[in-house]
Amino acid sequence: MSCIFCRIARREVESTVVYEDDRVIAFDDVAPQAKVHVLVCPKEHVTSLAHLRDDQEPLAASLLLAVRRVAERKQIANSGYRLISNVGEHGGQEVLHLHLHVVGGQPVGRMLAARGGLG
Ligand code: 5GP
Ligand code: ZN
Repeated sequence: MSCIFCRIARREVESTVVYEDDRVIAFDDVAPQAKVHVLVCPKEHVTSLAHLRDDQEPLAASLLLAVRRVAERKQIANSGYRLISNVGEHGGQEVLHLHLHVVGGQPVGRMLAARGGLG
């Protein structure tokens, strides 16, 4: 299994882990688009939100609660942040392992995608 985020979850690839629990791992994006840019991922491989199954409701809840904890740890809960998940080809998803981008630490304007703009 060569999925990069699976390898990060297994600690085979180095990352700066911000938060971790039984189901979820969150780590700093290697190419941050803002002062705070964290990726929140399921530890098990799920390709995207489009692949999240009905029986994975506990995982879905854990991902959202992890976002809140990440924001608290990064001290951006009060100032606010943007939550983004790119899904599939039209969504511009590059890493095919579900992840939520938590972007903040500065105003992020009308930025629509984690890499900025629509392009
Ligand atoms: P996507 O376009 O799939 O929504 O975003 C993938 C994100 O993963 C990008 O922001 C990219 O910088 C980040 N990324 C890709 N490879 C690695 C890696 O090996 N480590 C970390 N920490 N982030 C990565
Ligand atoms: Zn994976």
